[in-house]
Parts: sequence; structure tokens; C-alpha cells
Amino acid sequence: MAERMLQFVRLEQQTPDKRDAAERRTDFDEIYARFAPEQAAAQASRCSQCGVPFCQVHCPLNNNIPDWLKLTAEGRLEEAYEVSAATNTFPEICGRVCPQDRLCEGNCVIEKGFDSVTIGAVEKYVTDTAWEKGWVKPPRPKQELPYSVGIIGAGPAGLAAAERLRLRGWQVTVYDRYDRVGGLMIYGIPNFKLEKEVVLRRQAQYEAGGIKFVLNCQIGKDVTLAQLREKHDAVLVATGVYKARAIQAPGIGLPGVMPALEYLTASNRVGLGDSVPEFESGALNASGKRVVVIGGGDTAMDCVRTAIRQGATSVTCLYRRDKANMPGSMREVKNAEEEGVRFEWLAAPEAFTGTDKVEGVRAIRMHLGLPDATGRQQVEPIAGSEFTEPADIAILALGFDPEDLPAMFEEPALTVTRWGTLKVDHRSMMTALPGVFAAGDIVRGASLVVWGIRDGRDAADQIEQYVLAQKSLATAAE
Ligand SMILES: Cc1cc2nc3c(=O)[nH]c(=O)nc-3n(C[C@H](O)[C@H](O)[C@H](O)COP(=O)(O)OP(=O)(O)OC[C@H]3O[C@@H](n4cnc5c(N)ncnc54)[C@H](O)[C@@H]3O)c2cc1C
Repeated sequence: MAERMLQFVRLEQQTPDKRDAAERRTDFDEIYARFAPEQAAAQASRCSQCGVPFCQVHCPLNNNIPDWLKLTAEGRLEEAYEVSAATNTFPEICGRVCPQDRLCEGNCVIEKGFDSVTIGAVEKYVTDTAWEKGWVKPPRPKQELPYSVGIIGAGPAGLAAAERLRLRGWQVTVYDRYDRVGGLMIYGIPNFKLEKEVVLRRQAQYEAGGIKFVLNCQIGKDVTLAQLREKHDAVLVATGVYKARAIQAPGIGLPGVMPALEYLTASNRVGLGDSVPEFESGALNASGKRVVVIGGGDTAMDCVRTAIRQGATSVTCLYRRDKANMPGSMREVKNAEEEGVRFEWLAAPEAFTGTDKVEGVRAIRMHLGLPDATGRQQVEPIAGSEFTEPADIAILALGFDPEDLPAMFEEPALTVTRWGTLKVDHRSMMTALPGVFAAGDIVRGASLVVWGIRDGRDAADQIEQYVLAQKSLATAAE
């Protein structure tokens, strides 16, 4: 049905309806509606089915996007879902949180001159439909195998590996120090980008498929890595990166100055119905307060938009570069601006003022200077341009580094890079410890859900190869 495709020449790009900013400010629900079936089919039919699909090339999972767009345009949704799920463990999550403007959609060939196909919104539509129709099944293997893997971390990397190995019949146990499955998808990313039910229903499916979760269990404290290695044929470390990058500035220890993830986790827990004393006491609650967020990435955008929804009286984002040089997704910046966040571009914090608690952030204006060796323009302070931004809460969203895993796991033989990420052999994904593999942010540094999924799937393949080879060597030696 080729005539159904290539409709970009007559059909304009349409994104799903976005709720009005005034309404969005009052709740934590997702901000985009879902495509109606005919809208999804029409938008999918805009794909040009080009010979070299750059959308697929630039997707970390190499998702077969043109094929599932064509199937969607033809109304063959179950097949579209199957093609999409063949390469992606969580298409419904990628459809919601991937920075498509930098990945698939940003590389769509019709993007030049016409607007790109709205790939993410169609992906979300197809997979949400699959859930509703019961096409998404628990990972039940055809045959049970006697191989066992212990996975540390129930984020996207750990879960992607868990599902892949379970489908092949492995005995899979996932350990996590949190009380819920999902990693940053549950406690980092706010509800207005990813409703938590979307993550929790995956947990239920995995349990039904026989994946065992051992929650509230911190490896290195409650159980040692050595014990896991004894118990399982292989271990996967997928622990993410959680150490907040700090700045040295006077007043940094004042009450009211807090790391982004502490603030976001409290908000997500409240949304999930947990009792959070620090939220109830007001310490981690922006209601009625003037909020300043420092940083220019997606975490900063999540903080400013959370503060708006909590009822902050003002929310300001300080970023030391300009808008064009922000690392965060432009889509999220636009959403934040619409919701009433004020941006102070080219401004860097120098000190946190106040005596018993933070009362303001003293900042200095910056200008972009000459490029450094990497080609990125350096920022330089403008002498005498200091100003103070009043603040009852100052949130630091400056990025994340890995915790000291060799110390945490009491395994000095685990080697790390100069950034503290785990060193792995890039082909086998194995760490310096035989049978211990690693995937996701703990290897890459703070990254994206889609890369976590990719790494988890690849690690599962490598683990399988390794364990089968070890078993056949053992059999040959008998
Ligand atoms: C605020 C925020 C917003 C983000 N927004 C987006 C977005 O919009 N789009 C996007 O693509 N990406 C986003 N990201 C990045 C994305 O969430 C991460 O790249 C991704 O979750 C990394 O996956 P992971 O599996 O490697 O680690 P994580 O998701 O961090 O999961 C690691 C898990 O390991 C557990 N763990 C750690 N140490 C131990 C231990 N010793 N014992 C037991 N368990 C342990 C943790 O509790 C956690 O559950 C965001 C990140 C943050 C912080």
C-alpha cells in the first residue's frame, strides 16, 4: 500500500494535543494527549520510507521505525507493536521520554523543508494500544534453563537485560536498594513526563513472567557482591549514577540548598502515595516559596517544572551559558517557559546568602568567550555584574557522578575509569571481575533511558555467551 505513505507532501505535521499551560501547572499528569487512531495513522503515513532511514541509524536501539510507521498507517497495529517491541524493551517509555528532536526525529530526512514524522508520539500510541488490547505479555519462556543471573539495579538497563534473559529461560533475580522497580524512571523522571503506572505495570508483568525482585536490598551492605557471585552464574551491575555533582561556594550547607534528586525523589514518592516527612515539613516542598534551580540540563527542567506544580511563588533557572548552548532538550525548555519559569541565561552562582537558612543566590553574569580545544565556547564572568536572586529553596542540578563502586562492593579488583564509571571490555561488557558484567549509566555516565535499554540488551547477549562457554568448558573437562 505504498500510496498510503509519503503523505508528508500534503499532510502537515501534527503533534498530539498539549494541555494548556495554566491547567498543566495545577497537576502532575502527563502533558500530551494521545493520538486518536486516525491521527496516528495519518501522521505515520507522512513517512517517506526513504532508502537509508536516518531515524533508525540515529536510534540507539536501531528501531525499525519505517516499518512500524508503515504498519501503523495501514492499521496493522498488532504487527506494528511486534516490530517495535522486537528491538525495544520499553517503546511506550521511549515514546514519552526520548529526546526525539536529537535522535530519530531530528534526523528524519523530510525534516528539511517539511517537519519530521512525529515518531515518538506514534510509538507511544502503538504501545499504549498494545497494553490496552493485551498484546504485551509477561516474559514467559518456552523452556526453563538451569542458568542463573543476578542483576544489581532495576533501572532500564537492569530490566532490559532481565527480560531478555528470562525470555530465553534463564533464572533471573534483580536486586535493588529501592522499594520499587524502575530506577530513575520511577524516582527521577517526574510524572508529568512519565506517569508511574506506565513503569509499575511493567513490574507486574515481569513478576508474572517469573523474574524475581529482591527489593530494599543494597548490594555492598545487605548482601555482598561476593555472595552474589557465589549464587549466580553471572552478575550484571546496572546501578546507575547517583552522586550529585557539587559546587564549592559560601553558604552551600545552608538549609534550603538541596541536590536535585533528593527534591525530585520526594516529589515522586508523594505522587506514588508514600508518606514523606521532609515534604510534609516543607523542607522538600516548594509550595509558597521562591525557588532557584541551578543548571541547564533535563534534570534542572524537571526541577523547575515540579516546583511550579507544587505551587512555588516564583521559579528561576540560573544557567551559566545561553539558551542555544543548553544541554537540555529544547522541547522541555519551551514547556518550562510556557509554564511560567523564568530563565536567567549566562548567570553563574557565587554564593548562597542567609544565616539560618538560604535567602538568596548571589550570581554573576557571564559572557561566552573563545572556544576551547573541544570547540565549545568558554564562559567568563563579567566583572562587577553581581546580582542576588531571592530564594527560599535553591536546587542544585549540576549532573551526577558514579558512587565509588569498588569501595561500595569491597572489590578493589573492580577497575574504574578516571570519571569513576566502571571499566568494561567494550566487546564483552565484562568488568575486571570474571563473570561480572556492567551496563547503563554506571558504564556510560549519566545518559538516557534508551541507551540503558540498549546496553542491558547487549549485556544479556554477552552474559549468555559467556555462561554457555563456561558451562561447555566445564563439561569438556569432566
Ligand atoms: C531527573 C532525571 C530526569 C531524566 N529524564 C530523562 C528523560 O527525560 N529521558 C531520558 O531518556 N533519560 C532521562 N534521564 C536519564 C535516565 O533516567 C537514565 O539515563 C537511566 O535511568 C539510566 O538507567 P540505568 O539502568 O543505568 O540506571 P538507573 O535508572 O539509575 O537505575 C539504577 C538502579 O540501581 C539501583 N542501585 C544502585 N546501587 C545499588 C546497590 N548497591 N544495590 C542495589 N541496587 C542499587 C538504584 O536504586 C536504581 O534503581 C533522567 C535522569 C534524571 C536524574
